[in-house]
Amino acid sequence: MEKPLSVPTPQTSIYLMKKIKSHFQHLAFVIACATSTLSCYGQEDMTKPVITTEIKKDSDGKDVTYMYLDGIKVHETDPAKQAFPAIVTPGDTNKCAAPPSDAIVLFDGSEKALNENWTDNKGVPSVWKVVDGALECVKKAGYIQTKQKFGSCQVHLEWASPAKVQGDDQGRGNSGVFLMSYYEVQILDNYENTTYADGQAGALYGRKKPLVNVCRKPGEWQSYDIIFHRPLFDTAGKITRRATFTVLHNGVLIQDHTILSGGTGWNGPHAASEYQAHPEKLPFTMQDHGNPVRFRNIWLRELND
Ligand code: MG
Repeated sequence: MEKPLSVPTPQTSIYLMKKIKSHFQHLAFVIACATSTLSCYGQEDMTKPVITTEIKKDSDGKDVTYMYLDGIKVHETDPAKQAFPAIVTPGDTNKCAAPPSDAIVLFDGSEKALNENWTDNKGVPSVWKVVDGALECVKKAGYIQTKQKFGSCQVHLEWASPAKVQGDDQGRGNSGVFLMSYYEVQILDNYENTTYADGQAGALYGRKKPLVNVCRKPGEWQSYDIIFHRPLFDTAGKITRRATFTVLHNGVLIQDHTILSGGTGWNGPHAASEYQAHPEKLPFTMQDHGNPVRFRNIWLRELND
């Protein structure tokens, strides 16, 4: 005998509706969790840091732009408002180790490497000079840059500020390494030399101070190991993913997967520059800031974005 079709009673309909609602609530919860995980690990919050800007008159009546990143003034000099990084004495890491086998060697101490791999920022041979196997900045020679262009990469380099101390603050042993010619990891002789925290050695200039100050004495060799992921822009030139930096100074972590909030170019005494769209690969550059800073053992490994 054929089983009669059951007709849902009002009670069973309510039960079914409750069941369906419960399933949808569970699904919504799972989606919310997944989205939240993505926002933590897959996407960055492009609204951070909170940047505020005001214009003030200086003593000559000129307008000066003041920018604040999460409430801290760019190039803040008051340690009560932007603490100086703690001083750490590095271990014995200042030996010139051989590059890994897959590295692109940019400078190995030779004139040949200088001539083959580098130009000035106009594309003609640089007048930076090789002294005792080191590449030395020559005042007013301008920046030096690689002929080859790079995007995301791992960089190793060693640098030494002049043994004879001259100047102070930002005028003492100042240079810098620029990833993609735009993003500066500051080089500065910060051994017993005070300057604003976001401009000291290992700072992403004007944007992020280093976690600690690991500077060796003037004239001693120091190392930077940098892991850099380039920024991404959409077709309209809008930033869609900011650059990240992990940096070790003399083997000590000073930038811990730092998201670079904007550009590092000089933009006045208390302002920072913003991102500007640029090609996927650009030269690796070092700064002439007028001080004879030396470099050696520069190599690079290209990374996936
Ligand atoms: Mg500099």
